Amino acid sequence: MRSKSTELSAHSKKVLELLSKSAKPLSAYEILDKLRKFGIKAPPTVYRALESLLERGMVHRIESLNAFVACHDEDEEDHEHNHTAQFAVCRGCGSVAEIHDHRLSDLIHELGKKLKFRIEREMLELLGLCQQCEKKTGA
Ligand SMILES: [Zn+2]
Ligand SMILES: [Zn+2]
Repeated sequence: MRSKSTELSAHSKKVLELLSKSAKPLSAYEILDKLRKFGIKAPPTVYRALESLLERGMVHRIESLNAFVACHDEDEEDHEHNHTAQFAVCRGCGSVAEIHDHRLSDLIHELGKKLKFRIEREMLELLGLCQQCEKKTGA
């Protein structure tokens, strides 16, 4: 566990634990559903926990799924701020792979300059099939 997790509230820790264990991204509703047995029943509690985890870059939001994943960035150095990541989302099994490729970010910022557009948030999600699912479809 990262040292930063000590600053987290108990609720945030539970949410992070849940997301870390999940093979798939979870929606806020699914998180709430799973936390019910721990006595967490109020949606705002879950939203606040998610917000705090998002701010720390410990959790990412997958916009296309409206769901959340635990950050799989193992590089501690890079974890000081809310980093930008790209995601490959499998439409077969629902798994999400986190990609860090600064070349993509560099390119996006270059494009922003060219367009004279101030980019505030980058969201890049690739939709397709993971290797296992592609094997299953046997194309
Ligand atoms: Zn990440
Ligand atoms: Zn898959």
